[in-house]
This record gives sequence, structure tokens and C-alpha cells, in this order.
Amino acid sequence: SVTIGVLALQGAFAEHQKRLQSLRLKRPIVSILVKTPDDLQRCDALIIPGGESTTIALLARLAGLIEPLKEFIRNKPVWGTCAGAILLSQSVTGAKKDGQELLGGVSVDIARNGWGSQVESFEAALEVKGLREPTVPFTGIFIRAPVVLGFAPDASIQILARLPPRLLPEPLADENDDARTVVALRQGKHLLTTFHPELTQDDRFHDYFARKCVFPTLLAS
Ligand code: GLN
Repeated sequence: SVTIGVLALQGAFAEHQKRLQSLRLKRPIVSILVKTPDDLQRCDALIIPGGESTTIALLARLAGLIEPLKEFIRNKPVWGTCAGAILLSQSVTGAKKDGQELLGGVSVDIARNGWGSQVESFEAALEVKGLREPTVPFTGIFIRAPVVLGFAPDASIQILARLPPRLLPEPLADENDDARTVVALRQGKHLLTTFHPELTQDDRFHDYFARKCVFPTLLAS
């Protein structure tokens, strides 16, 4: 079987595990909670959940997980949701003055709490490329979500979903900036979503991660 870990230091890790457990796939998957480098060793792929990216980074440092995580990301598929997406980015703005530790791995510049302080959370119906039943919209739940500011002009970034411009929250609504509408993307084996698929009952993003990122990577190695 294939083992998908969920980084379980802080945030919505239990919900991710529930969604993984509900998947019915051709290859059976086992999901484990990752709290230590030993846990990480057992994984074929990893999900970094939403929560508070500074807290997750701090707890990862205390657990001796920063270097093992960076190494893992170089070799194996990782999906970051919300705070997890921040940690996978190459640069972040809106972080505290003394800087925030990032894991990197995805060529994205991102802004923490990028919708502005008035916008705590919102939902949006998203059209997502490549999901099972692609014509059924996916409910994106955005909670103090980060905003993609830009990415390397790199053909290997595949945009999976954008917010329709009319649903862009007020602070950014006037800005005619293409990257800022991107809320889900894939770069090779890695997946990044600025919203929380694990907070819906819809398991199609977990299904996508397993089928499009995890299984092909295992086959190729
Ligand atoms: N605002 C949080 C952060 O900066 C992310 C919020 C979330 O994961 N829902 O880490």
C-alpha cells in the first residue's frame, strides 16, 4: 500500500486524514499522522495542513523536522493547503519582521493573509481542472488565506483553479493582476491550494493528489 502522511503539528490535520480515509482508489492508501522524522521516513507523500504557518514552522524546528522536510520535498510529492501552501512557497510577504522559516519547493511568491484584514473568510464555487466530475464546482473555503503574488515563468506550473474576478475579495478586486486569481496549482509532483478542501465533505482534491501526484511519482521511481 501507499502511505500518505499528514503533518500533525498544528492545524487541520485530523480533517485531512478523514478525507484520505474515505477515498476509494485502485491502489489502497494508508494515512498516518507525522510528528517526528521517523514518522516522515515511512511516508511516500505528505500533506501540510492549514493552520498558522509560523506556528507550524516553529514546531517543525523543535521536532527536528525542518531539514528532513526539505529533503522530503526534494524527492516526494507534497500538498500544502493554506498555511501549508505558504510553507511550500519560495518567498512570503506579510510575515513577521524577523522573517518566517519556509520549506520551499514550489516556485511561488505568496502573501500571508493576502485578502486584507477585513476579509476573515469566504467561500467560492471553483471550477477545477482535472478533478473527478470536473463540471461539478468545488467549494473553496478560504480562511485568512494567502494570495499568490506570482510564480516563476516556468512551464511546469499548471494552474488548476482561479477565483472568478467577480468573487475576488474587495482589497484586491480592482487589481488586474493575473497571478492573484490563482488558488490552486501544481508544479510537477507538488500541489498547492490556498483554500481548505479538507473542511468540505468533498474528497476530490485528495483523490486528485493521490492519482495525479502520488501514484505517478511512485511508478516513476
Ligand atoms: N493566515 C494563516 C497563516 O498565515 C493561514 C490560515 C490558514 O491556514 N487557514 O499561516
